[in-house]
Amino acid sequence: MPQTAERGPSAEPHCYPSEPPGEAAASTVKPLKVGGITPFSATDYPGKLAAVVFVQGCPWRCGYCHNPHLQTRTGADALSWEQVMARLQRRVGLIDAVVFSGGEPTIDPYLANAMREVRALGFGVGLHTAGTYPRRLAEVLPLVDWVGMDIKAGFDSYDAITHIPDSARHALASAEQVLASGVAHEFRTTVHPQLHTEADILALAQTLSDMGVHHYALQQFRTTGCGDAGLSGVSVADFAGADLLARLAGLFETFTFRRA
Ligand code: SF4
Repeated sequence: MPQTAERGPSAEPHCYPSEPPGEAAASTVKPLKVGGITPFSATDYPGKLAAVVFVQGCPWRCGYCHNPHLQTRTGADALSWEQVMARLQRRVGLIDAVVFSGGEPTIDPYLANAMREVRALGFGVGLHTAGTYPRRLAEVLPLVDWVGMDIKAGFDSYDAITHIPDSARHALASAEQVLASGVAHEFRTTVHPQLHTEADILALAQTLSDMGVHHYALQQFRTTGCGDAGLSGVSVADFAGADLLARLAGLFETFTFRRA
């Protein structure tokens, strides 16, 4: 059912609509709901210097989320979109790109407008997404130069991490769209020994390789921002093992292991 107004995920805590919130005409939607900005980053878009704009809202509830304060869209805007654009204008010539991150940026009805506006300044556009809203992802992919796509787990065990029913269907549809679009990508999975076994990770990586993923990263769980004491209390220093990492490296054109 099309949504005509912004609706935060808190209005529907146990599931969420397939359609992204806010299907109003692009000219009438509210400006991007900004949760924060990193003005200069060398790590959020491979090979580029980028600003990162964090968008409020995500319908999923991963225990390892680094930005749980951005899961709802009810917070006061850290900056207005107008203020963000003013800052970006002062960085023309100093950075290469703007990355939209979150929260989940595809929740925001203004996302395509925001991407067009930063492209008009001459910046490339990066997107961090978990693929929660495939329809909005399809709308913005033509405006995106690079996607960092989070894959939580095997598509048969997604809900145990997102705590939201049917989340795998959305993620799989989004992953397929990214690959079909041909846009530059990195798929990545945050791993924790309480959430994944090494066999799970290998099976997931094989699935992604078979789908056509060329660039994959495994990220050790980091405690920063995490509100789940059960996850934070477990050492991940030895996870995953060298044998698994070697096998993963053989499945992709590039493979990166990011330690905590
Ligand atoms: S999908 Fe990303 S932003 Fe949403 S809860 Fe999970 S980790 Fe946090």
